[in-house]
Amino acid sequence: MKHVAVLGATGSIGASALDVIARHPERLRATVLAAGRQVDALLALCRIHRPRHALIADENSFAALRDGLRAAGLETQAHAGEAALEALVGSEACDTVVAAIVGAAGLSSTLAAARAGKRVLLANKESLVLAGELLTAAARDANATIIPIDSEHSAIFQCLPQAGEGVDRGLRRIQLTASGGPFRGMTRAQLGDVTPAQAVAHPKWSMGPKISVDSATLMNKGLEVIEAHHLFGLPGDKIEVLVHPQSLVHSLVEFVDGSTLAQLGLPDMRTALAVGLAWPDRIESGVAGLDLLAQGRLDFEPPDLEAFPCLRLAYNALAAGGSAPAVLNAANEIAVAAFLEGRIGFLSIPALVADALAALPAVPAESLDALRATDAQARRYVEQAISRTLAKHEHPTMRTRADA
Ligand code: NAD
Ligand code: MG
Repeated sequence: MKHVAVLGATGSIGASALDVIARHPERLRATVLAAGRQVDALLALCRIHRPRHALIADENSFAALRDGLRAAGLETQAHAGEAALEALVGSEACDTVVAAIVGAAGLSSTLAAARAGKRVLLANKESLVLAGELLTAAARDANATIIPIDSEHSAIFQCLPQAGEGVDRGLRRIQLTASGGPFRGMTRAQLGDVTPAQAVAHPKWSMGPKISVDSATLMNKGLEVIEAHHLFGLPGDKIEVLVHPQSLVHSLVEFVDGSTLAQLGLPDMRTALAVGLAWPDRIESGVAGLDLLAQGRLDFEPPDLEAFPCLRLAYNALAAGGSAPAVLNAANEIAVAAFLEGRIGFLSIPALVADALAALPAVPAESLDALRATDAQARRYVEQAISRTLAKHEHPTMRTRADA
């Protein structure tokens, strides 16, 4: 029986993970559920899954969680705050951790899971972008297994032969597929006026708002290039991006002998979660098989780096190394939040990230403290850049498109 902590339980990945877990009561149990601030949604999940522990990151919501659990007659213990989350994740309450908190907020709990030697089902790609070396080293030292949950990285994980002593894997390159997002085919000029509602309406995947905007800017693929670098140990020039609008081929691995292996399936994250939960076994995920005759065709095209410069910015940050990926990630998180709030236009996202990378050049980043300081500095920089731009306009809600 695996005891699973689902961090980000109230989110999109959390829901998919709990769906797969509930299909296998004989081998999987959700023992810890954690969320950011949605107490009611967390309580509803506790009534269904009856975990031993429930945690709300927002400490002001502790009483509401505790009282709600009591009122529901549940024995689930209530917890709050980041320190309590780290402790729970490192404790015997779980042996498997689904790391599905969105953004850099997921770093400390992901790291705690790695340090405690857990099986880490890693959806929280931002923690790898921010602190990939530290996180993978912590996992190695503690004998933790990181299994990627991002669909592309799960595909590569499934295609790669298990690395072993003396095995030459013969990798030539990997190709990450990208749907292209809701704005595929649009020019830079057309992107000036797109709205948050349009940006989060992804054509193929149903996901949380932040990653949906990242998919629309192609920053998501940029973060995934950096993620792949840390997970699979390849330099940026061996990690390519291929736009594939049908989102059925989830990524490809090419070997030196000319073989290419790919993993295919319907775009549903429950497949990757089932792989991570049961590996090396295969279990039912609730996802139907792929009917290629019904799908008809598979198309591929190169990414448009003029219209979607975020992908290039991510490659550059990976090449610069040190603190640059942390700056990229933090600047992007602030810019995406501002876009979702209607404070800036879509094209301001890449503009702000590029500004932050230019203003805060890469320095070596060996410690977690140094990376956290960089993260905070980049957030402040972008917040101030947005405030300055908004202040220049008479109308406080005017978009910063002209400044993009
Ligand atoms: P989401 O917005 O739907 O859910 C985010 C979850 O994180 C929520 O449960 C929220 O309560 C929780 N959370 C936010 N801040 C928190 C904090 N400080 N402490 C504890 N919990 C906090 O997001 P999502 O789409 O499920 O994405 C989650 C992660 O998985 C992201 O890193 C994303 O890039 C990655 N991912 C998602 C998908 C997908 O299909 N949704 C695919 C690949 C990777
Ligand atoms: Mg992905």
